[in-house]
Amino acid sequence: MIEVLCRLWDKIHPGKEEVERGCLACGMCCEAYGGYLHASPGDIERWRRLGREDLLALVSPYGWIWVDPRNGRRGDPCPFLQRGDDDKALCAIHEIKPDICREYPSLDHGRHCVRGIYIPRHPPARKSSVH
Ligand code: SF4
Ligand code: SF4
Repeated sequence: MIEVLCRLWDKIHPGKEEVERGCLACGMCCEAYGGYLHASPGDIERWRRLGREDLLALVSPYGWIWVDPRNGRRGDPCPFLQRGDDDKALCAIHEIKPDICREYPSLDHGRHCVRGIYIPRHPPARKSSVH
């Protein structure tokens, strides 16, 4: 229902066009926001269960990620953003990436990413930077 309302809003909102549907794996969102993320309790639990001490070491006591354990500062851009030969962006931890990345762009963003592209809640499976 909410998804339907979002699409309706997209249609009637002036100047807001659905340029293209689905993530292009350009990595722009990761570059823009990858240094301002936080881990959810579910992320912490998942990484603990998987024994991903390497990821847990990059979480601050307040849940901010990805921090340098040597100085507690967050990195920018995200250290897991990788560029392929085709210049497509890939997430090196795609299967276990943080919930905040998994859910982006959320309803708070009207399900439009930083490029203005509408990203459905359950897009077709695609290995990309965020979906
Ligand atoms: S969601 Fe991110 S990677 Fe996908 S098209 Fe938008 S900015 Fe690019
Ligand atoms: S999707 Fe992956 S590469 Fe992009 S910001 Fe999140 S963890 Fe980093």
